[in-house]
Amino acid sequence: MTDRSAPAPAPALGPASTSQPLPEPVVGPPVPGPPVPGQLTFQAPRRGKPPRHLADLAPAERTEAVQALGHKGFRAKQLSTHYFERLVESPAEMTDLPKTIRDDLVRDLLPPLLTPVVQRLADDGRTIKSVWRLHDGAIVESVLMRYPHRVTICVSSQAGCGMNCPFCATGQAGLTRNMSAGEIVEQVVSAARLLRRGELAGEGSSDEAASPLRVSNVVFMGMGEALANYKAAIGAIRRLTDPAPDGLGMSARGIVMSTVGLVPGIDKLATEGIPVTLALSLHAPDDELRNELVPINTRWSVDEALDAAYRYYEVTGRRVSIEYALIKDINDQAWRAELLGRKLTSRGRGWVHVNPIPLNPTPGSKWTASRPGVEQQFVERLRAAGIPTTIRDTRGQDIDGACGQLAASTA
Ligand code: SAH
Repeated sequence: MTDRSAPAPAPALGPASTSQPLPEPVVGPPVPGPPVPGQLTFQAPRRGKPPRHLADLAPAERTEAVQALGHKGFRAKQLSTHYFERLVESPAEMTDLPKTIRDDLVRDLLPPLLTPVVQRLADDGRTIKSVWRLHDGAIVESVLMRYPHRVTICVSSQAGCGMNCPFCATGQAGLTRNMSAGEIVEQVVSAARLLRRGELAGEGSSDEAASPLRVSNVVFMGMGEALANYKAAIGAIRRLTDPAPDGLGMSARGIVMSTVGLVPGIDKLATEGIPVTLALSLHAPDDELRNELVPINTRWSVDEALDAAYRYYEVTGRRVSIEYALIKDINDQAWRAELLGRKLTSRGRGWVHVNPIPLNPTPGSKWTASRPGVEQQFVERLRAAGIPTTIRDTRGQDIDGACGQLAASTA
């Protein structure tokens, strides 16, 4: 739901009724558009559902869907093998499906979900930002990054975002809609196909020469707050981690769920039995500043978010990551580093590490990144408190592909 009440339409003036009091203005439906500061949007505006896709369905549901179309149940496994294991792009390659039923099955269960709009390359081709159009015209982005020993894709989980963090370009445009599990997974499958075609530059380790390059890491750090789109996000995580041919067979360890701190979502994720890494976007250790930087803090405070993060660690055994965008003269003071250190160590040792990241510039924002010396001091203070701290590598700034810069501009 959106918290903003819409401007009331001007009441119509009735004929010759000027002596009568004007009727109460009717408050219309929320007007789509950029959110006002602090406004949180949880429910996406209603739009046409994306077409159903194999990747929306658990394996048993796929069999049912195939049977409901009047085909033999085992066809579901064949389709899954083509999609998740062989990464088949063209139905013509699905030669084990009789031609008469192939088109039918592909139309119903493998509809196109993402249409490429534009691709931008950075870091000598080792970073590729893809802009995609969804079936209803909504635009989302994903960013593929090659490192010496891994390939990471940063995926979107919503078109836009309702969390309205003022330093993030995505948050400034508001929420367009939730993405389906299939739309989330398809970003990863498209990346896997691109890797197979050898289109991502960069040298890997020697063992990579022998085996084909694979997507090793998926981070939910593109557009959207995935925990606000929980069902699709967990569906996507299952598709990514289910062994082939039911899914892509990725390790849960390579998946990072990043959140503003939706406490019920964090607790639910802990019960799923898939130990993905949790990243909490903290950005301030005190409620006063965090209320401004991460407006969800007005619902779940710093302490409540940290308690939930600690519970996640206890249940899953996975070390939690704290994200902290360093903003010059806003959240980079020594006392804030010390307060953050105290808040983390008071909950325990060895359960958390901090990932500061220099703020990436976004259009219209008055904020800039902390100076390198200040950044280094912030890191040193946390380390002195016994907190493992590493500056996050950020890629793709020059193609508006870095953290917080995904604004779905197709320019
Ligand atoms: N909704 C999720 C994913 C968002 S993007 C979340 O908030 O965690 C992933 C990370 O990039 C978040 O930590 C987010 O706060 C951070 N980020 C957003 N804008 C940024 C910017 N301009 N510079 C640096 N990091 C930014």
